[in-house]
Amino acid sequence: MEVFQGKAIFGGIAIGPISFFAKEEKQVKRVKIEDTQAEVERYEAAKETAMEELGGLYEKALKEVGESGAQIFEVHQMMLEDDDYNDSVKNIIVSQSVNAEYAVATTGDNFSTMFAGMDDEYFQARAVDIKDISERVINVLMGIGHAKISDEPSIIVAEDLAPSETVQMDKSKLLGFVTRLGSSNSHTAILARTMNIPALIQVDIKEEWNGKMAVIDGFSGEFYIEPEPEVLEEYRVKKAEQEERRRLLAEQRGKATVTKSGKAIKLFANIGSVSDLPSALENDAGGIGLFRSEFLYLESDTYPTEEEQFKAYRMVAETMAGKKVIIRTLDIGADKQVGYFNLDKEENPAMGLRAIRICLTRPEIFKTQLRAILRASAFGNIAVMYPMIISVEEVRKIKAIMEEVKKELDEAGISYGEVEQGIMIETPASVIISDLLAQEVDFFSIGTNDLTQYTLAIDRQNAKLDEFYNSHHEAVLRMIEMVVDNAHKAGIWAGICGELGADVTLTERFMAMGIDELSVSPTFVYPVRQKIREYDGETK
Ligand code: PEP
Ligand code: MG
Repeated sequence: MEVFQGKAIFGGIAIGPISFFAKEEKQVKRVKIEDTQAEVERYEAAKETAMEELGGLYEKALKEVGESGAQIFEVHQMMLEDDDYNDSVKNIIVSQSVNAEYAVATTGDNFSTMFAGMDDEYFQARAVDIKDISERVINVLMGIGHAKISDEPSIIVAEDLAPSETVQMDKSKLLGFVTRLGSSNSHTAILARTMNIPALIQVDIKEEWNGKMAVIDGFSGEFYIEPEPEVLEEYRVKKAEQEERRRLLAEQRGKATVTKSGKAIKLFANIGSVSDLPSALENDAGGIGLFRSEFLYLESDTYPTEEEQFKAYRMVAETMAGKKVIIRTLDIGADKQVGYFNLDKEENPAMGLRAIRICLTRPEIFKTQLRAILRASAFGNIAVMYPMIISVEEVRKIKAIMEEVKKELDEAGISYGEVEQGIMIETPASVIISDLLAQEVDFFSIGTNDLTQYTLAIDRQNAKLDEFYNSHHEAVLRMIEMVVDNAHKAGIWAGICGELGADVTLTERFMAMGIDELSVSPTFVYPVRQKIREYDGETK
């Protein structure tokens, strides 16, 4: 048995024989052409065929993996229609009197080298896409079909996989895949997550593995070649358990989150980082109701730049493909300390300089984040919400800062989308003045974790207080009801993003109160959906 370590891009276990995926070698020759006009027309015709193929792949992916996974083929179509790309191909044909295959291969190489050299992970990942579309056109020109995978269900091991190769594979034969190249940002990785396929990247693959038995552990990133019988057995049991869990819950997949009386509830997922996205997708979340953006700061040794934040937010927005993504602005302090902020030690950190208080005292940090959020909003359906609010004045200050940032972006000619602004209701003060706050914002999201701590005066970190901590305390439940009433009076929606939202023993009560949204850890989406669909009482 040999064990290799890779980077897991989708959790799950795959067991089966390895099928080494070798791309058909093709030699693109440089051939002198007399009639360059006819060669340009041959290119145009091949491009049209490639466009049609991409249209077909889009439809196939749409059916199998949904809009977010299918989008890449629209992107490929756009790339293939790109003027610079086409001008380059035609220019090479005409100016050098050469064949279309050679012109496409040269253009593909030039463009992908250019993308790969860019100082931006997103564009670097596009280098593969350029190669992919160029190969597609060359294949059409040369009359070559697509690489095939084994007829037996197998684990595909490859140097790299293009999105089109991934989607063309017969899903029933694809147990998982392992590649040497690829990034977790690549569209192939996104597709793997969307297709629920255990996958590893950055594994030192070997062609001699072809046909050998293997196990992918998509949780730990381990790849076992010819596993020992005990290891194999252990993974068979794990896989069976995982499949049973999935089967039971997947019955809820694709079902609308609507009560029996007909009220549609937004059932969203909470995520702490981009790596939680697969789980949100796998569990069929209707959106992201709480993206705890502070992870970007916690994982870093210094302030994350606007560009780093922008990339993360855009990735989430793009992956959720038009579904709502609510980004909560920086919530550090209290239990989430970040050294480089150089915050003074406090007697009472939970009631100290934290969350929005830091942002308002250090607006340059706040503005960087808002710029990144606004820029990312051009790529999806982003909303923003602010934590730890206690007053109307704070909200007005925040909105003024937001306006400043928008003005700066306007002046710089940078586009952004419509971004709803909401606040977290997690202090008793915000509950009591929720009628006033509702006049200022687009939505409320109740943070029951902190709201319970501040209402019951129980430190949520202190394990010794567990016996006093009653998450169903009537005070907290009445507060939730009051917030929902005040939201509705002002015509805005209210949801819960604290842990209580996932407590299925309270779902009926939340429905009766008129809650509009619940945002829960991804694995709770299905159980909560089931409860909501069973609810047949009144909703306020
Ligand atoms: C909350 O307080 O309920 C909440 C959702 O935020 P966090 O747990 O990140 O403080
Ligand atoms: Mg909180």
